[in-house]
Amino acid sequence: MKTDDLRDAYLSFFESKGCVRRPSDVLVPKDDPTVLFTPAGMNQFKNQFLGIGPLEFTKATTCQKCIRTGDIDNVGVTAYHHTFFEMLGNFSFGDYFKREAINWAWEFLTQKKWLGLDADRLNVTVYLDDDEAAGIWAKDIGLSPERISRQDEYENFWPAGSPSNGPDGVCGPCSEIYYTPPGQTKSVEIWNLVFTQFNRVGNPPKNLQPLPKKNIDTGMGLERCASTLQGVLSNFEIDSIKPLCIAAGEAIGKKYSYDAAEGRALRRIADHIRCVTMCAHEGVVPDNAKQGYIVRQLLRRAMLEGFLLGKDAPFLYSLVPVVADLMKRPYPDVQQSVTAVANIVKEEEEQFLGTIERGLSKWNKVVERAKASGGVVSGEEAFALHSQDGFLMDLTVQMAARNGLTVDREKFDTLVKEHEGKSGSGAFLDSVMAEGPLDRVRKNHGATKFLGYDKSESEAKVVGLIVNKEFLEHTNYHGTIGLLLDQTPFYGEAGGQVGDSGTIAGEHFEFHVEETQRNADLIIHIGKLVRGKIQLGEPVTAKIDAGRRAGIRRAHSATHLLHHALHKVIGSNALQRGSKVENDVLRFDFAHSKPVTEEEKRQIEDEINARIAEGASVATEVTDQETAKKRGAMMLFGEKYPDRVRMVTMGDFSVELCGGTHLSNTGQVGLLRLVSEEPVAKGVRRISCLTGQKALAHIREAETLLRESAILLRAPTPQELPRKIAALQEELQAARRELAKHTMASIADLASSILAEAAVIGGVKIVAKEVQGVPRDALKELIDHLRSGKEPVAVLLGLVEEGKVALIAAVSKELAGKKLHAGDAVKAAAKAAGGGGGGRPDLAEAGGKDPSKLSEALEAGKAVFVGKLG
Ligand code: ATP
Ligand code: MG
Repeated sequence: MKTDDLRDAYLSFFESKGCVRRPSDVLVPKDDPTVLFTPAGMNQFKNQFLGIGPLEFTKATTCQKCIRTGDIDNVGVTAYHHTFFEMLGNFSFGDYFKREAINWAWEFLTQKKWLGLDADRLNVTVYLDDDEAAGIWAKDIGLSPERISRQDEYENFWPAGSPSNGPDGVCGPCSEIYYTPPGQTKSVEIWNLVFTQFNRVGNPPKNLQPLPKKNIDTGMGLERCASTLQGVLSNFEIDSIKPLCIAAGEAIGKKYSYDAAEGRALRRIADHIRCVTMCAHEGVVPDNAKQGYIVRQLLRRAMLEGFLLGKDAPFLYSLVPVVADLMKRPYPDVQQSVTAVANIVKEEEEQFLGTIERGLSKWNKVVERAKASGGVVSGEEAFALHSQDGFLMDLTVQMAARNGLTVDREKFDTLVKEHEGKSGSGAFLDSVMAEGPLDRVRKNHGATKFLGYDKSESEAKVVGLIVNKEFLEHTNYHGTIGLLLDQTPFYGEAGGQVGDSGTIAGEHFEFHVEETQRNADLIIHIGKLVRGKIQLGEPVTAKIDAGRRAGIRRAHSATHLLHHALHKVIGSNALQRGSKVENDVLRFDFAHSKPVTEEEKRQIEDEINARIAEGASVATEVTDQETAKKRGAMMLFGEKYPDRVRMVTMGDFSVELCGGTHLSNTGQVGLLRLVSEEPVAKGVRRISCLTGQKALAHIREAETLLRESAILLRAPTPQELPRKIAALQEELQAARRELAKHTMASIADLASSILAEAAVIGGVKIVAKEVQGVPRDALKELIDHLRSGKEPVAVLLGLVEEGKVALIAAVSKELAGKKLHAGDAVKAAAKAAGGGGGGRPDLAEAGGKDPSKLSEALEAGKAVFVGKLG
């Protein structure tokens, strides 16, 4: 059975059991800081498991895109681990339980109509004292006792070890299903059924309280199950991955086969580029922190694998279309970002190849040292290569082996642990199911009702008070408070639009809202008390700063106009990557690998202002995703949309899904000015604009500058400025030429007068002088004159030309490099004037940035001469 068919079969099977088929969550879950990437199917249902929030369905089934970076060292080594993989799941929120979960799993795996796996090759595990599960496996399914093994809480409990060690919260035993492929003795876990039936409170014994509503959470690895069905040795041999391994081999000139010497490296390359492509498609691009850092590390690992196989040019980017093609049935949209993602990957490869070159020279020294000291690469050196030069440990080990060396792995591991301790990675994973203060509000009052689409003021009731992550009944605290209401006109920051500010007042208090944030379906007013004391349940009046909101609405509607204009001018590949909408200020990030030209910028601005002048009406409507898609609404990759979406339409040119606050007519934007265009990340550009009064003010400011310049340059009107400036420049040049003629003639005179007044120290005439008015080109001539006498001289001359300091130093040939060094003097002088330079012992030039420091510079240079002579 093909992987794509298995995915469909699974979802259809559970649909036939009444589960609602839900889409995969995005790879970087929203509103969940406890994980960097979605690690399992259950994460998107966290609130349903906790019994919080709306429950539109009580059983569901998904195919979830997952990333487990913790498995990275297993990739290519074990036959069954990936970083990116898909997990098939079925879930019950207080609906069906163990009996159905087990029976259905068995039915799906063994029935001819479904997978038809050989039942004799399946074994299961259950938790030590889970007699209920063991009983179902024995009686319902008819498994003999030796095929049901009992495992401890570290193997068969979720979260692992939680009965003894916590965390508190929802947890439960699990039961795993293993398959032993024909001709093999080792079995592989393909499916894990988790029975979340307890709430853990405190330490054992008796700390597992049965939940009133028991849940089911199961996860089956799509790739693992496909490999058993296809009778192949490894996940990497299945129809949806093997072609990628082969393509990876071709890209670096090796033939892929499972047992080939390069097999492991090619599998890793395939795995990593698959993961990176899926991430970058959702807008997670190489970066130095968080998810972006992981993407960068994955790319680097893949590049190093290729490099070690002799590929020293970019190649990973060429695998991006292969990934998109293999993923096209479940994720057709990946095709749309192939070019952008390939560009990002290629650029990263080019940059990293440079780093590798540098790392290799360091590596060669490490090899020398190791050879000299007993053939062991020290843990410290391996760690430095790992953390500073991107040399991952197993590569260091491989490269060491090629040189007949070993690596002090123990020390290396200790250092890694210490480092991880410092950066705190992995520390927060356990708290996925912990309940926070916001969950309490959610449980008691549900979502915050947002009234702000058509109201700027409303009555409401206080339903939550949060200070320092604690839920309070009342407070008169003077620091920052999070205040939640049952309903509010305040917009919580989301979709790039900043939150509102304003006031919330009750009979006994007044609260200034500085910013408004959102956490899933809750709106949190963040600010400070300016009077009195707040009490939970108190009635209040909530009022936003309406002037500021009007500016935000202008900027937000203009952002949609900009998106439209970009697609029209640059093309449909200019996919939105992010935006920030503030009071009459907006910025918009989009995928584009080169700068937007002046001509394109003008066209974009024209298009937007034409749509403003058109006065197109803006309409909003709540509808389902399908309808919205049909109407042409763009769905951003990596964005999670609810089933019912809000669609914002402008005239006949823009349809977007957007929860923001908008104008009712594009004409209300008034005016838009595109003020800048710049790069922000690999393959991502940013355009910033102003709207309304701010756009006008920006134009006025420019006008004022022109007018003032015209006055200064005595141009009758600003229109005359270019001609006036050209005329002045010509005049200036003519004057310079004239001056040069005169100065050349008088250079000899100048030289003798300078020498006449020069001090003599240790038999050397010292000159340190500002020679303003002498053209730079004439300085060397002047120097020659100064050195032409019989007496030895040391000269430092300086002048200001075009706002910069020019310095030149010279000493008589017979002194040069012996007693005195012109370069030293000029260097000291330049330093004093905020610059640098140097040169030969007899003649040296330098520059400085700060004209006001010219005399100090001359003094500094002179001091160098005097120091040597005195
Ligand atoms: P293992 O011990 O093999 O790493 P696990 O216990 O971590 O598996 P679960 O957390 O129970 O796995 O995830 C459910 C299912 O997801 C597993 O039964 C397996 O089929 C699949 N799975 C887990 N991790 C990976 C991975 N890194 N790559 C591919 N499939 C995986
Ligand atoms: Mg695992």
